[in-house]
Amino acid sequence: MRAAVLYEANTPMQIEDVTLEGPKDDEVLVRVDATGACHSDYHVIDGTWNGPRYPLPVILGHEAAGTVEKVGADVRHVRPGDKVIISFSPNCGRCRPCVTGQPHLCNGFRSPPGTFWDGTKRHRKGSLELNAFGRGMSSFAELSCIHQSAAIKIDRDIPMTAAALIGCAVMTGVGAVLNTAKVEPGATVAVFATGGVGLSAVQGAALAGASKIIAVDVKDNKLEYAKQLGATHAINDADGEAVAEILELTDGEGVDYAFDAIGDSRVSRKCYDAVRRGGTAVIVGMAPTGQEISIPSTIPGEEKTVRGCFYGSTRPAVDFPRLVDFYLNGRLKLDQMVTKTYKLDEINEAFDAMGRGENARGLITPNA
Ligand SMILES: [Zn+2]
Ligand SMILES: [Zn+2]
Repeated sequence: MRAAVLYEANTPMQIEDVTLEGPKDDEVLVRVDATGACHSDYHVIDGTWNGPRYPLPVILGHEAAGTVEKVGADVRHVRPGDKVIISFSPNCGRCRPCVTGQPHLCNGFRSPPGTFWDGTKRHRKGSLELNAFGRGMSSFAELSCIHQSAAIKIDRDIPMTAAALIGCAVMTGVGAVLNTAKVEPGATVAVFATGGVGLSAVQGAALAGASKIIAVDVKDNKLEYAKQLGATHAINDADGEAVAEILELTDGEGVDYAFDAIGDSRVSRKCYDAVRRGGTAVIVGMAPTGQEISIPSTIPGEEKTVRGCFYGSTRPAVDFPRLVDFYLNGRLKLDQMVTKTYKLDEINEAFDAMGRGENARGLITPNA
């Protein structure tokens, strides 16, 4: 199959003919119909995520939807021809987080970085062994071989470009609001950075019935997207005054919830400063390798909560179909988030555009 291989950070991915071994008994082979260019891929490409956790060369890609091509002997819930959204976080179904309703924190697969869920590597370019991303998902390719728990069937008619977004950005952003923070109707919300995850958090806040949804970014075009998707206020933080402006919009108190949707220690700190006493700052974006977030020692008197959010605290089998329904009844806008689609050969253009902050979301269609 054809796949985009990243050999070195800050160099273009190369489109190569590679082999992929699978599916094993517990796995599903999926033809990738659409896959998103996400900041988590970009951080590996531009080297902000580096070191032993992100071994190269690698086939990236972790936000995708596709068509089941082949299933392993033990797979019952999907068959060839089924449409699926892929979860980048497979779960074992047996460990403590899995059986207590937190499958996104599954610790049943203790596989090293760069490997599939079972610890193997299955992609090869000639004799060269390639690393995988997303526990083997590696969707910047024509085919993706995944653990069966990661194949979430969609039995409704939805464009695969819209479905793909649910696999990462939309689940992460909407889930941060509905699952992780459990924002209640009438609450006030600020969302810092309105890329794919942030725009989804804005939509999640609208779904939750937030009274004020304040979008913060340094790019006016992204703030424009945010307003179209439900933000009630938009603040351009190019001058660094966003926290002061949020306090002004909330009678000097701060918002109930603030979301860091980019992953930067300074932005995380702004979220902390922007929430009211007793409020909650949710850190959704993952910062560059090695960064720490500073929290003031006044936290006891402020009784603020800082919490992390991985993958929107998702239970994929429950949440993905729910998001599909929200899309189908018009309450979740996904088509508007797709700014441009690219062929696999054009994949580097998608990330160049991301680097320039141009797209709400760029999507790659590897089999088009
Ligand atoms: Zn992602
Ligand atoms: Zn588990």
